[in-house]
Amino acid sequence: MSHLNYETRLPLGQAVIDHFLGLPAHPSKCQATYVWIDGTGEQLRAKTRTMDSKPQNITDYPVWNYDGSSTGQAEGINSDRYLRPVAVFADPFLGGQNVLVMCETLDNDNKPTATNHRDACATIMKEISEEHPWFGMEQEYLIVDRDEHPLGWPKHGYPAPQGKYYCGVGADRAFGREVVETHYRACLHAGINIFGSNAEVTPGQWEFQIGTCEGIDMGDQLWMARYILHRVAEQFGVCISLDPKPKVTMGDWNGAGCHTNFSTSVMRKANGISAIIEAMKSLEKTHAEAMMVYDPNGGKDNLRRLTGRHETSKPDTFTWGIANRACSVRIPRQVADEGKGYLEDRRPSSNCDPYLVTAMIAKSVLLN
Ligand code: ADP
Ligand code: MN
Ligand code: MN
Ligand code: MN
Ligand code: MN
Repeated sequence: MSHLNYETRLPLGQAVIDHFLGLPAHPSKCQATYVWIDGTGEQLRAKTRTMDSKPQNITDYPVWNYDGSSTGQAEGINSDRYLRPVAVFADPFLGGQNVLVMCETLDNDNKPTATNHRDACATIMKEISEEHPWFGMEQEYLIVDRDEHPLGWPKHGYPAPQGKYYCGVGADRAFGREVVETHYRACLHAGINIFGSNAEVTPGQWEFQIGTCEGIDMGDQLWMARYILHRVAEQFGVCISLDPKPKVTMGDWNGAGCHTNFSTSVMRKANGISAIIEAMKSLEKTHAEAMMVYDPNGGKDNLRRLTGRHETSKPDTFTWGIANRACSVRIPRQVADEGKGYLEDRRPSSNCDPYLVTAMIAKSVLLN
């Protein structure tokens, strides 16, 4: 049995691939890779088609279809589902005029499928657009091999205890920086608002932030940033785990979240802090409802992570505080000092659907 690790790449010839991808681009045609969320509400799928020329607008991309019975989104006897393009990005893998197209999924009646939470999110974002809701999401993840073993962890036993890994530098504490830096550049090329990245508390664990993004853009960009991350990892022969608490980390290791930062134009102006504190009451009211949609399994995944330890809050009570990382929602110190800015919802799980999370925050704070 082979234990794959990141030294073991697929034995495909890189020089051969470089030759073909390095041929002059076709003068007019473009490859459009359609990306969508499958029936798990967590995994992504993609397929590619040729366009005679690069479309000018998102509405010029045709609706396409796929076999929903192979993605957990349909029965075999009535299997066609539709892909409706919603956002376009430059393709950092193929380069040139090729594109990645984020899509929403529709069933045979043109209604959103069960894991299409974008449709409802878009409706809410439209309703509150005058408040100019900004979001920034901090995506934590673990780099693992194909046996789901974290990168940098010994095959038997455990790495040295946590403490030196967060923002760590050096071969004994930073595992997989190749993936991180490649993903960062790829996001910039794609036109994604990547805010930054850092090594996290558990070895092999990293974070990137997307934002700020206004309204529905947050979900579109984070999903595409995740797609790019999975693809980059694939090229290095490793995988990305968005599990909030992979089994191997159940001991004294931090889990993975997707902290979601939020502000409205009022919060960003002088004395916006009063609107931020006001928002805490609204977020407290919807706490139970929010906890059910902050992971794709009805809140069950998050129960493994939100223990009240390892910089997390308890799942059953809503708490907030200034500069406190053991709260449900935190007001950053600098925001309190300046009297304006944003709040940070620390509850969402790393595998959350950003459409559900941003819709929940927007609805709680602005529509109740
Ligand atoms: P932390 O200190 O919690 O680790 P990070 O530096 O990882 O914070 O992430 C900060 C996030 O806050 C980024 O995603 C950024 O886009 C977001 N952010 C900054 N200002 C605002 C704002 N006014 N409204 C919403 N999000 C914001
Ligand atoms: Mn076919
Ligand atoms: Mn962060
Ligand atoms: Mn973090
Ligand atoms: Mn944070």
